Amino acid sequence: MDLLPRVLEALPVGIGLFELSNDEFRFRYGNRALARVLMLERMPSDGQPVREVFGRDQQEAIIELFRLVAVSREPQTYFAVAGGRHPAADQILNIDAYPVLAAGRVSYIMVLAEQTDEKLQARQREHLEANRLRQKADHLASLEQAKSEFLRLASHELRAPAAMLGGYLSMIEDESLGPVPERLRPVLPLLKAKAAQINLLANEMVEAARLEDGRLQLKRRRVELRELLRRSLKAAEPNATPAHRLSFDDRIGHQVWVLGDPLRLEIAIGNLLDNAIKYSPAGGEVIAHLSAGDGLATIRVRDQGIGIAAEDMSRLFVRFSRLAPYGDVPGTGLGLYLARELARLHGGDIVAVSKPGKGSEFTLSLPLESAKT
Ligand code: ADP
Repeated sequence: MDLLPRVLEALPVGIGLFELSNDEFRFRYGNRALARVLMLERMPSDGQPVREVFGRDQQEAIIELFRLVAVSREPQTYFAVAGGRHPAADQILNIDAYPVLAAGRVSYIMVLAEQTDEKLQARQREHLEANRLRQKADHLASLEQAKSEFLRLASHELRAPAAMLGGYLSMIEDESLGPVPERLRPVLPLLKAKAAQINLLANEMVEAARLEDGRLQLKRRRVELRELLRRSLKAAEPNATPAHRLSFDDRIGHQVWVLGDPLRLEIAIGNLLDNAIKYSPAGGEVIAHLSAGDGLATIRVRDQGIGIAAEDMSRLFVRFSRLAPYGDVPGTGLGLYLARELARLHGGDIVAVSKPGKGSEFTLSLPLESAKT
């Protein structure tokens, strides 16, 4: 009973079967829709080579398509704005070619051909969407550029006045500019701390701007981390309140050497310590722990502060990103970005673990200086 050919005739898509033998594709079967969709003058005859079935403008592409199916043994698609021997400008021809396997090799190619403007619309939609995304990307890129530009300008404009402020305050303090009135004396340390804060901020911005321009070059030498960490803790002390207990767990008991840029390492470590203090407004322990092993030096800074929500972890090291709730804690959102980039320039990294309300732990790892160098 020849039900199958009748079913195939009833389908609204063109169906064709081409046999592959001796490197030639020959027409074996096609329903009427196939001739219509391909705009053929008549149904091809049995055994007609594929080259003769399709119009000249398409035969190369179709043969290529069939070869691709034969080689890849995977379905492939051909898509063209044209039609058979009667090209019509806005007719869309979509041909899906499927491999038919016999004894493990491709013996036939089955073709489904459709003429539809639905696919054209889908294409146009894709096109529009791609354009929209491109525009968005351009917009984001220009915002990024604006941020970089801001960094460059602000850092440039801030640094000189900040340094000058600090310099004059020191001169006032040591009375090189004359005696300091008694009433002014108590506010001097406060002013100096603020000037130092501005200075730090300006430095952070300068470093971040350098990093972006690819101008940041490490000045590496042998650096002893135990001493450097001790120094960083000392520098962070003035930021702590009486409710904080800053401590150094240096049970390691020996020196730890890395090959690094001491100033940049101090910036990274200082940032972790400052954050640990800043983001534990109620005080608590801030512990810096140094260890070494497996070729890595590891500095862990742990606090008992506000912690970080799991969903915020991915934004932690993003430039300018600050997480809620930081209240009136001052900052730019640059510190951790910079710290991690600096660590990575050294071949190391910074990772964080945290529990909201319980505190955070930041781990900075750096490759140990190898024994030979
Ligand atoms: P900021 O200048 O805001 O301190 P950072 O880049 O150093 O910028 O940190 C980014 C954000 O990550 C901070 O605004 C804060 O929300 C969060 N954060 C950093 N360190 C800690 C910490 N120890 N505990 C809780 N949150 C932290």
